[in-house]
Amino acid sequence: MPVRVRYAPSPTGEPHLGNIRTALFDWLLARHEGGQFILRIEDTDQARYAEESVGAQMEALHWLGLDWDEGPDIGGPFAPYVQSERLEIYREHAERLIDNDRAYRCYCSTERLDRVRKELQARKQPPRYDRYCRSLTPDERATAEATGVAPVVRFKTPLDGETVTVDALRGDVTFQNDTLDDFVILKSAGFPTYHLASIVDDHLMEITHVLRGDEWLSSAPRHQLVYEAFGWDPPVFAHLSRILGPDKAKLSKRHGAHSVLHYREQGYLPDALINFLGLLGWSLDDRTEIISREEFVSHFDLSRALTNPAVFNAEKLDWMNGVYIRAMNPEEFAEAARPFLERAVGRTVDMGRLMPIMPLLQERVKLLSEIGDMADFFFVEGALEYTVESLLGKKFAEQPDAAAVALTRVAERVESVADWKHEALEAAIRPLAEELEMKAGPLFGLVRVAVTGRSAAPPLFETMAVLGREIVVERLNDALKRLPPNFS
Ligand code: GLU
Repeated sequence: MPVRVRYAPSPTGEPHLGNIRTALFDWLLARHEGGQFILRIEDTDQARYAEESVGAQMEALHWLGLDWDEGPDIGGPFAPYVQSERLEIYREHAERLIDNDRAYRCYCSTERLDRVRKELQARKQPPRYDRYCRSLTPDERATAEATGVAPVVRFKTPLDGETVTVDALRGDVTFQNDTLDDFVILKSAGFPTYHLASIVDDHLMEITHVLRGDEWLSSAPRHQLVYEAFGWDPPVFAHLSRILGPDKAKLSKRHGAHSVLHYREQGYLPDALINFLGLLGWSLDDRTEIISREEFVSHFDLSRALTNPAVFNAEKLDWMNGVYIRAMNPEEFAEAARPFLERAVGRTVDMGRLMPIMPLLQERVKLLSEIGDMADFFFVEGALEYTVESLLGKKFAEQPDAAAVALTRVAERVESVADWKHEALEAAIRPLAEELEMKAGPLFGLVRVAVTGRSAAPPLFETMAVLGREIVVERLNDALKRLPPNFS
C-alpha cells in the first residue's frame, strides 16, 4: 500500500513553526517512501476561522518547497479537501454511529451543561458531561425533540475497560475508559468536531500515517474508539515531540513562535529553515547538523524521530542560515539579496551594480535582512547621513584638526592611486597611519565613516574599490566640510 500522509492545518492563524515542522515530516515521509503528500484544510471551527490563514499556509509550504500531490487548489481523487465542503459526509457518518448505538443525540442546553460542570467542580470531580441524554427513553427523546432544540451528537464512550492506542514512536499507550467523556462529534449547527472529521477523512482519503504534535496524544484513545466503532483499521499514529523555548517552557513569540512567513521576511533561506526544522525532533546520527533537503529525503524514517522535547535554538538557526548563505553561488546570492537591498534603498537595483558588492556581504551576513543596513551606502546618491560625532569617534573627538589633516592626506593618496584595486588602496593608505603618528584602527575608522556613513561596514579597502575613485574622493571631501571650521 503506498504511503499517504496529510498535513491538515486548522486555518485559525499564521502557519507557525510547530505546524510546519509537522508538514515537513509529513512531506519527508511521503517523499522518502515515494508516496503521496496531501493538504487538507480543517476549517470546522467556524468561530476561530481566519480567512487569510489558508493562503498563508499554502504560501509557507510553497516557499519551503513542500509540494503537495492532492489538495484544495489542485484537487485529487478524494476531493474536496476542505472540510467545510464535506459536511454531508460527516453527518452521514454521525448517523451511522447513532444507528449502531455508538453515538447519541444530546439535547442538553448550555445552561444545564454549565450547571453540571460547576457542580462537579464543586465536588472536585473532573468537569465532564454527565451523560444525561445517553439513556433517554424514547418518550423523553420525543419530548426533547418536540422542544425544537438542535441536538449535538455525542460518542458513546465505553464506561469501563481500557483503550490501547499504538504510537509509532512510543509504543502502546493505555488509557482507562472511565477517564474519557462522551465527547461531541457533531455540533448543533451541523459542523463536525475534529474527533469525527479527521477520522472520517483520514479513512476515506486512505491516509496510512498520521503525524501530529504530541498535544494530540491525549485525544488518541478517543480516535481509536471511533475507528473501532466504524470497524476501520486506524492508520499509523506518530505524535511528534513538542518544541520548547530555550527556557524549556512552551515556545513563545519571544523565542521563535512566529509565523513561518516572518522567517522569510527576515531573510532566512528555505533550505536553512528546512534543515533546522528537520532536526527539531528527528536526528540522523546525533551529530550531523548540516543536512540537505535531498539527504533528509533519502534518510527520513520514523524510527529516528525523537520523543523528547526539542529545544528551539535561535542562534543555531542563524548560524545555519549563514552556512547556507555562504554555500550559494554568487548569482543565487545576488538574486536572494536583491529584494532586501531594494527595500532598503527604495528603488530597483540592477545586477550589474549588485554583483561586485556581493562577495563583500556573502561572507558576513547571517540573515538577508542585514544586507540593507550593511550595503545601502553603495547606492546612496549625494551626501551620506551621519553625524560629526560618529565621524570623529572617540579618538578624534577632542582633535578635529587631526581628523581634518588625516582626511586631507587620505584624499590626496586616493586621488593618486594608479591601479584602483583594494591592494593598491591599502598600500597607499596604511603607511599614512605611521606618518601621522597614529594607529591604523582610528585612521581607518575615520575613513570608514567618511566613505560609508557607518562605523561597521564591509572591509574598508574592498569597499572603496567597489565604490570607485570619484565617489570616494567626493565623500572624503564632504566629510572634511562637516568638521568644525576653526582647526589649524
Ligand atoms: N487540524 C489539526 C491541527 O491543526 C490537525 C491535527 C492532525 O494533524 O490531526 O492541529
